[in-house]
Amino acid sequence: MQPLIDNARTFGQRPEEFAKLAEGQSPQVLFITCSDSRVVPALITGARPGELFELRTAGNIVPPYASVHPTSEAATIEYAVEVLGVRDIVVCGHSHCGAVGALVRGDDLDAVPAVRDWLSSHATPRPTGAVEDPAVAQGVQAHALAQVLRLRSYPFIEKKLKDRQLSLHAWYYEVHTGAVRAHRTETDTFEAL
Ligand SMILES: [Zn+2]
Repeated sequence: MQPLIDNARTFGQRPEEFAKLAEGQSPQVLFITCSDSRVVPALITGARPGELFELRTAGNIVPPYASVHPTSEAATIEYAVEVLGVRDIVVCGHSHCGAVGALVRGDDLDAVPAVRDWLSSHATPRPTGAVEDPAVAQGVQAHALAQVLRLRSYPFIEKKLKDRQLSLHAWYYEVHTGAVRAHRTETDTFEAL
């Protein structure tokens, strides 16, 4: 923890660089990814402050849209699309994902009931893949695509898509190489960016 505090203490010594951020934000992209500490969206994309609106959830899960019981995730997505007017949404799964790995392997998650219930409630369809693959690449990629499909069921996203004001993307990030692959609809495969 101390190195993080030390950095935070000196971080605020660049006021001129950040002063114009007080005028507002206009990010072009909503980046949805896992909470995993090995995934650092700004590092991967080179985004500067103000350029990337982020939503991080366990297993980069997008919960079902439910206007009666709104979720924090839906509120974040709605704000990004309707208020900030992002033009693209990226759902970025990652290799060696603990959440997806647990689903693929069918791990017993009773010791972490909040995680268990979050995954069992929202990770549908349940990702499958080769259980012997530590990267769970197949499961993560299928799971990222499922979240993109889930996004399409959000009414305000469906409308923006129809009006061609929004694009959705599924990415796969390898934590052990730094490589990023994007889903190509023409071939239904994940290819190098
Ligand atoms: Zn993860």
